[in-house]
Amino acid sequence: MPHVLICESLDRLNRQAPLDALAPFIGLINAGITLVTLTDRQRFTRESMGEDGGLRLLGSLIVMLRAHEESATKSKRVRAAWERKRREADVRKLTKTCPAWLRLAPDRSRFEIMEERADIVRLIFAETASGIGKGSIAARLNEAGVPGFRGKNGWHASYIQKLLSSDAALGIYQPHTLEKGRRVPAGPPVPCYFPPIVDEGVALKARAAIISRRQGAAGRKGADFRNILTGIAQCAACGGSMTYIGKGDAERYLACSSARRRRGCSSRALFNFNEAERQFLDAAMQMDPTARRTPGANGTRDELHRVQRDVARLSGRLTRLLAAFESDSTDEIVASVSDTRDRLRLARLAEGRLMDALVVEEYGAGLPDLLAAISELRCPEYPTSGSSRFLVRARIAHAAKAAGFTAAFHEHERRVELRCIGYEDAVWFSCLAKRDDPKRDLLGRFAKQMQNG
Ligand SMILES: [Zn+2]
Repeated sequence: MPHVLICESLDRLNRQAPLDALAPFIGLINAGITLVTLTDRQRFTRESMGEDGGLRLLGSLIVMLRAHEESATKSKRVRAAWERKRREADVRKLTKTCPAWLRLAPDRSRFEIMEERADIVRLIFAETASGIGKGSIAARLNEAGVPGFRGKNGWHASYIQKLLSSDAALGIYQPHTLEKGRRVPAGPPVPCYFPPIVDEGVALKARAAIISRRQGAAGRKGADFRNILTGIAQCAACGGSMTYIGKGDAERYLACSSARRRRGCSSRALFNFNEAERQFLDAAMQMDPTARRTPGANGTRDELHRVQRDVARLSGRLTRLLAAFESDSTDEIVASVSDTRDRLRLARLAEGRLMDALVVEEYGAGLPDLLAAISELRCPEYPTSGSSRFLVRARIAHAAKAAGFTAAFHEHERRVELRCIGYEDAVWFSCLAKRDDPKRDLLGRFAKQMQNG
């Protein structure tokens, strides 16, 4: 039986450039070994070499030379890009590039804070921490006539988002490079590069609020943040959200959103919104924060530690595998590399999700924030200007959701079941709408008029 050597391609014989593989290749064939290359599906023997005078071998060699050249160029380019990134991170240090609320001191040795602008940034973080979305913040800044940092076009939600998602306000500098026209982070962030202007606790609260908003029903809110039950009200029949229907101050209702859009829920009940809000605020004020049993942050922290150990273990494994891959690129190693890489990616995703959850659990708004905001709303001396009412109502809506409240609206019982995570008992209250659906009623009146007229 002849000896057969199977390899992926010629250069895999000894992981060298194809030309360097030629000598051992011919040596093997001369020794009577049959060589099979998988990439171009060729089979070489002493006889076949004699038959075509080595022409087929030349063809095979050209294919491999081309492939080798391509991959060499690619890895050269990747390396060059990385080196450029590293250089740029150093060169940019103490250039004029800095956030819009800072300027380089005349002697170029440090950055100075432009206090009026820094105050606006602080306001943006504080409002975000109380649960106000970037769109509302931009609108309110424009309404108040606060000039934007760039250009004359006022404030945009996208700029606010950028400001909140960078850590520059905390003094951290993240170098970036342009890749295919997009700004991408290059190298690790540099702490203490800029003077910090926002307290870390406020920044974490803002992050917690952004994460909670992302998970729940956010969206445009009216000028006075009408529906403070927006994140917690749900239809008991279908579990969907409740829609706010407002027709002036006296006629405000909540109804199942799916049912109103005729999307599979049959609950047609209308609940009196003003009454539901009053009852909810009353019930919340009765809650004792100290009586709460929270499974809370400890579980998440343990889980996070477990996942972080996984990440460390898997990335160590990947490093070892890649080292082995250098000397011996068998199919098994290739398979393990891709398997380990996939599992590492999943572990990193889980790590990010748990870190988000922990931020919400530890820094998110809670029952004390809710109670403070309700007291403020109900304080007789509280200024009733539109802007401050909006703020305090937004804080209530955000804290109610973050504190773990749900209000299930039961159609048949025409009452609401209020629950809060960490408390055994539900609070029930009724908030019957005195009238039926205003639309149906209008139709009814219209029909009556038609009959009478
Ligand atoms: Zn429903």
